[in-house]
Amino acid sequence: MNKNKRIAIIGGGPGGLTLALLLQQNGMEPVIYEQEMLDMNNQRGGSLDIHEESGQLALKEAGLYEKFQEIARYEGEDFRLLDKDGKSFIDELTEPDEKGDRPEIDRGDLCDLLLNAFDKSCIKYGYKLEKAISLENGITQLHFENGAVETVDCLVGADGAFSRVRPLLTNTNIEYTGLTFFELNILNVAENHPDLFEFNRRGKVFALGDNKGILAQLNGDGRIKVYVSLKVEKEWPEKNGISIEKPIEAKAKLLDLFSDWDEGLKRYIRYAEDSIIQRRIYMLPIDFKWERNTGVTLIGDAAHVMSPFAGEGVNLAMFDAMNLALSIIRNNDFSIAIEEYEEKMFEYASEKAQESQDNLELSFSDNAAEKFADLMNSLHEQYNPDHEN
Ligand SMILES: Cc1cc2nc3c(=O)[nH]c(=O)nc-3n(C[C@H](O)[C@H](O)[C@H](O)COP(=O)(O)OP(=O)(O)OC[C@H]3O[C@@H](n4cnc5c(N)ncnc54)[C@H](O)[C@@H]3O)c2cc1C
Repeated sequence: MNKNKRIAIIGGGPGGLTLALLLQQNGMEPVIYEQEMLDMNNQRGGSLDIHEESGQLALKEAGLYEKFQEIARYEGEDFRLLDKDGKSFIDELTEPDEKGDRPEIDRGDLCDLLLNAFDKSCIKYGYKLEKAISLENGITQLHFENGAVETVDCLVGADGAFSRVRPLLTNTNIEYTGLTFFELNILNVAENHPDLFEFNRRGKVFALGDNKGILAQLNGDGRIKVYVSLKVEKEWPEKNGISIEKPIEAKAKLLDLFSDWDEGLKRYIRYAEDSIIQRRIYMLPIDFKWERNTGVTLIGDAAHVMSPFAGEGVNLAMFDAMNLALSIIRNNDFSIAIEEYEEKMFEYASEKAQESQDNLELSFSDNAAEKFADLMNSLHEQYNPDHEN
């Protein structure tokens, strides 16, 4: 019965694409409405670690796991943790042929992998949802900024943190976490800055101290993405003259803020291109739930945006998509499918939201590097109990 229903997915990020693919593979014809004029996923976000128990499960369900393994970067799990003086607390190097359970892939490559597996004619680009109105029997009317109006039987908001589907379900809005990232890019590091390439290795470097952080990550295209992270009030950048319009001045101010940090770490700011992206980090409340609405639900960041400190955002988006798709396939009735999906999702999402929040607080507390190392070592022991014996 669901096969003849009109299913709309708002947003063509990793969550929306995974859902559409799985539904298509099961004979349904969902439509994705995406605000951008064309696929822009490769311009957004850096390298993501895809977890065995969530993101990878969704890829397996879609029959894409082998292809994923071919392009995933297992060596991207290299990890270094330092304090502001450059003192090392963790230095993990992936062995050749070692296959960990959280390999890396660039967001654009992940979206291409999904996009190449399905009939792209189901994506309507240039459709930015303005508002959605609930009619009776779970039917929803969609109003787009381009003037189009559509009526659908089932609506899935996969439209990220600033979801315009969410207001159909709740008055709760996202909150600023107290953390702002300044994203910098150092291009072609191996060639342009071999010293930093050697220092950074093939994965992530976290330097934490003074309630600040320099978080860096080598991406598949050879750049290092750097997130200079500050615990500041929301309007702090404007009040302190850090503007994306003036990247050279902004970089100089960031360097000032880190003036007493190790010289090696300051290269992450010094070597960066003269452009800067400001990202305020938002979250929904940890136990966030909404009243059920027969024909409407949310997946991914729209449902449970959280800080990136548990590395769960994209994994949960894909895991939600898989769980919802399987529920829709199993049940003839959307309302039952949504209920089944939401009950399970509320539980696992709140656990991960708590973990993200705990990690955020720890990462920007006093002696953060030491505490972060203790946490990682205890997790390592928990999951490898024989290791010490
Ligand atoms: C700095 C940073 C680092 C991160 N690191 C990690 C990490 O290491 N691991 C991890 O798992 N996650 C990470 N994340 C989070 C991750 O990128 C997101 O959680 C994930 O992309 C969520 O996927 P999504 O499909 O739910 O939403 P999104 O990726 O946000 O996609 C939403 C889509 O909806 C479209 N859209 C939005 N509004 C509308 C509208 N009104 N109408 C139509 N279309 C619309 C957008 O254009 C977009 O294509 C990070 C995030 C940030 C900010």
